[in-house]
Amino acid sequence: MILVSACLVGCHCRYDGGTKERPDLVKLIRQGRAVPVCPEQMGGLPTPRVPAEIVGGDGEAVLDGRARVVNSAGDDVTAQFLAGAREALRMAEAAGASVAILKERSPSCGSAAIYDGTFSGATVPGAGVTAALLRRHGVRVYSEETWDGGTGNAHT
Ligand code: SF4
Repeated sequence: MILVSACLVGCHCRYDGGTKERPDLVKLIRQGRAVPVCPEQMGGLPTPRVPAEIVGGDGEAVLDGRARVVNSAGDDVTAQFLAGAREALRMAEAAGASVAILKERSPSCGSAAIYDGTFSGATVPGAGVTAALLRRHGVRVYSEETWDGGTGNAHT
């Protein structure tokens, strides 16, 4: 089973109420091979919501208490991001998912890059909070950009 970011399969759960639907990933849902999660909604944040970025590090640092997640209004939303990551992990374990395909550059779902915390659109290498937690528990995390379509070879 595969865990997939809900915004990649048509859910309007992005901070701006939008979606980033990918027909190839919707197909996985239809085939019963994937389950959708939106960690930010599952952590208790509303939609639409004020956009947030990780300040002071990456998702690993947030898990270790060395960085925070802050929204563009200046509110600390670290607790909600951590709660959402734990909920996504719970769903991965319930579904027996060993693979995840998560939205790149999100402070929750990014797996290779995240926004740099300045709300300027700039990115830095690193994973979001949920991607980092899933990896700590043995889930192989890809993005919609590196997912190989199930051939076994991730694009890099
Ligand atoms: Fe939700 Fe992740 Fe998509 Fe953000 S990137 S809307 S947290 S599923």
